Amino acid sequence: MKIGILGGGLTGLTIGAHLDNEKHNFEILEKNRECGGLCRSFKEEGFVFDIGGHIFYSRDQELLNQLISLLGDNKTEGTRKNKIFFKDRFVKYPFENALNELPKKDTINCVYNYIFNPYSKKKPENFREWIYHTFGKGIAEKYLIPYNKKIWNFDPEKMSLHWVEGRVPKPPTIDVLKSAIGISTEGYKEQLNFKYPKTGGISTIISSLEEKAKKKGSIIKDFDISYIRKESSFWIVSNGKEERRYDKLISTIPINELATYLKAPEDIINHAHNLRYNSLVLVMIGLKGPSKDYTAIYFPEEDVLYNRVCFMNSFSKFNSPEGKSCIVSEITFNKGDKTSDMSDKDIIDHVTSTLDEKKIIKKEDVIYSKVLRFRYAYVVYDLDYKDNIEKIRTYIKEKDIELCGRFGEFEYLNMDACFDRAQKMAIKMNSLNS
Ligand SMILES: Cc1cc2nc3c(=O)[nH]c(=O)nc-3n(C[C@H](O)[C@H](O)[C@H](O)COP(=O)(O)OP(=O)(O)OC[C@H]3O[C@@H](n4cnc5c(N)ncnc54)[C@H](O)[C@@H]3O)c2cc1C
Repeated sequence: MKIGILGGGLTGLTIGAHLDNEKHNFEILEKNRECGGLCRSFKEEGFVFDIGGHIFYSRDQELLNQLISLLGDNKTEGTRKNKIFFKDRFVKYPFENALNELPKKDTINCVYNYIFNPYSKKKPENFREWIYHTFGKGIAEKYLIPYNKKIWNFDPEKMSLHWVEGRVPKPPTIDVLKSAIGISTEGYKEQLNFKYPKTGGISTIISSLEEKAKKKGSIIKDFDISYIRKESSFWIVSNGKEERRYDKLISTIPINELATYLKAPEDIINHAHNLRYNSLVLVMIGLKGPSKDYTAIYFPEEDVLYNRVCFMNSFSKFNSPEGKSCIVSEITFNKGDKTSDMSDKDIIDHVTSTLDEKKIIKKEDVIYSKVLRFRYAYVVYDLDYKDNIEKIRTYIKEKDIELCGRFGEFEYLNMDACFDRAQKMAIKMNSLNS
């Protein structure tokens, strides 16, 4: 069987690397000049920048080991040293595990409202209510609501909560109370210790998968799919200039785009338009001298556009030339909002000036800066998500096209889940007759 894999990110490459080439031929079609999608790294003037903080972690140790084994000896490990920038101080992450580090009035307010929480009696119906229900008004209003408003660029009241379990850290009560009196506790433990490539940034995993996939099939880059149609029993996939023919399609490209390329009926296209996602501005900054010894800093406050800054050298010291360091700042945005209209220069100015004011970097130390924009970064689960996604998936299933990956399935998946689902997809394909 000839299989067309749409998209050459982590998911598409993993499927290719695991397909049985005795049984199937395949081609991976990737729109960019290089594979990797969100797992790309950008090597600029000796600095290595990932698209935000990209570390390997998973609750599933076996899966994590499989992913890490792709790095061979080129691996290192680290321990999370994340902070939250709150009222001009650096508070340990997650916020609810470090309440003693807040100004005393805030500590009392958070602990009191956590214990005597009237919201805990009402069953939450949206993400905002879940935050109040789980953490109380203090932690909610000082950190979780403002931070989540920023990263999702959306009102938590309009977000569903089917996804929060396991994705938003929820500590045992005893840990919150211990933290309030200064006994150190750790939250979100699966993320506490992480693995990372020693050299080359996160895209090292992509190079390894690409090598494996290339041995079994073909990868066609610079192929920006613009329409897909059925011709007798074959699928025709085109970029507007040339057409490729397949017996079977597996799509890892955004499902809403896929519906458009398939010229789906109007109601399906409407559901596709209504799926919500966030785009990302990545600000890459190279510094002379070392940076702060943190892995990342989270910014709940409204005075800055970015929600997080990651310190690339805390993942691997080889992410910059000796004696220098580099950081990435992440700003989520949607078409038409304030960030989307800002020039690169204004964004860089904003990031470097505000980080300087907060004494996180010195503006005069900036020796490299560049802005990159990514249209698809985060799936946003609004209240209509389930209805929209089910209608589109049903339509695509009827066409017998397989969906896989973060935007392919339109789910908030990390690398481990993408890798897992991609391997399972390959197993499913390998079980089909050639
Ligand atoms: C800021 C940020 C930080 C993250 N941090 C972590 C982390 O620390 N740990 C972790 O495990 N995960 C992290 N992730 C998640 C991780 O990046 C994703 O889960 C993973 O990269 C998704 O892979 P994918 O192949 O499914 O999707 P993508 O990477 O989106 O790949 C899809 C591919 O399809 C291609 N494509 C799209 N349209 C077309 C078209 N029309 N024609 C041809 N090709 C097309 C794209 O160019 C892309 O290469 C993070 C994500 C973000 C945004």
